[in-house]
Amino acid sequence: MEALITLLPGDGIGPEVVASGRAVLDRIAERHGHQFSYREALAGGAAIDETGSPLPDETIDACLEADAVLLGAVGGPKWSDPNAPVRPEQGLLKLREVLGVYANLRPVRVLPELAGASPLKAERLRGVDLVVVRELTGGIYFGEKTRTATSASDLCTYTVAEIERIVRVAARLAASRRGRLCSVDKANVLETSRLWRDTTNRVMASEFPEVRLETLLVDAAAMHLLSRPADFDVIVTENMFGDILTDEASMLAGSLGLLPSASLGDSKRGLYEPIHGSAPDIAGKGLANPAATIASTAMLLRHSLELDVEASAVEVALAGVLRAGARTADLAAAGEEALSTGAFTAAVIDALS
Ligand code: NAD
Repeated sequence: MEALITLLPGDGIGPEVVASGRAVLDRIAERHGHQFSYREALAGGAAIDETGSPLPDETIDACLEADAVLLGAVGGPKWSDPNAPVRPEQGLLKLREVLGVYANLRPVRVLPELAGASPLKAERLRGVDLVVVRELTGGIYFGEKTRTATSASDLCTYTVAEIERIVRVAARLAASRRGRLCSVDKANVLETSRLWRDTTNRVMASEFPEVRLETLLVDAAAMHLLSRPADFDVIVTENMFGDILTDEASMLAGSLGLLPSASLGDSKRGLYEPIHGSAPDIAGKGLANPAATIASTAMLLRHSLELDVEASAVEVALAGVLRAGARTADLAAAGEEALSTGAFTAAVIDALS
């Protein structure tokens, strides 16, 4: 197949890990007879320096014309003044809005060989393979805000349509995996959560009877994620709860350098990025772990290009290389040899032969 992929390297280690992702996509194209073409565009701090905007119009056009977008990371100390009128993260928020991506998927899988990288006991992590689906464009982060000298408020709003569409994304995903969905809310206290629960129950009963639905209050879910993480398949939740639970879930895997994400909307076009930031402390040194970005390219192949076989090939190659002991500096044990970003990428590419 032919596909146009827009690359947004961004800042810090972004360009290094996006180069790894592209190299893996090139190998997949070569091995499976596809033609992938790329357009590289500015985003984040690099875009502010060049154009004054964290998401210039040419970047927006390049993303809207593409079949998928692969982003590295944005931000860094140079642009971190909270009083600055333009900031790199504004580019990310605008990009999600422009692309209409309302579902953020974050898979967490723990390889037994890497269980030692997690702060949790290895026996708790056996079999962990879950995906958190976070609603990305509604809820309290986007509601009306007020502030006086003595009080402040943030409005949390959800519509039935917003809940239905995210529940459908999560349920379809659950149906393609182990057939279990856990919906997380705070229905004992919040009206938006009661609407969330009623809507979820209705959609699941009428449209996905084959998927087993569990409902948890967010405080209990936070606890269960640590006490029985292997029991979860797909978790669906609203924006703020998802923000918090996805960071908690990322600690199951131990290193930020391992975890991919996809942000999806109604069209096939998605935004794919590692969950880590721009890691300015290690930028430009060849120390970045490209695994999260490589795993993000697998999600890109699966969700935007519908190339399931190719997506699995990337995941199998990546897991195989990690199982065989390849480690970048963030994962290497004391005294263990650490591979550079390029050497680790080359090992994954070799495994794709
Ligand atoms: P970070 O994720 O960049 O780094 C946290 C720690 O993890 C650092 O010690 C870093 O070296 C390490 N790390 C992260 N990714 C790694 C990788 N692939 N390989 C090896 N080590 C890795 O988070 P931070 O330090 O809080 O933020 C740095 C900058 O990134 C800030 O400007 C922040 O705003 C931005 N940020 C951007 C995104 C994004 O673009 N989506 C997300 C989070 C943070």
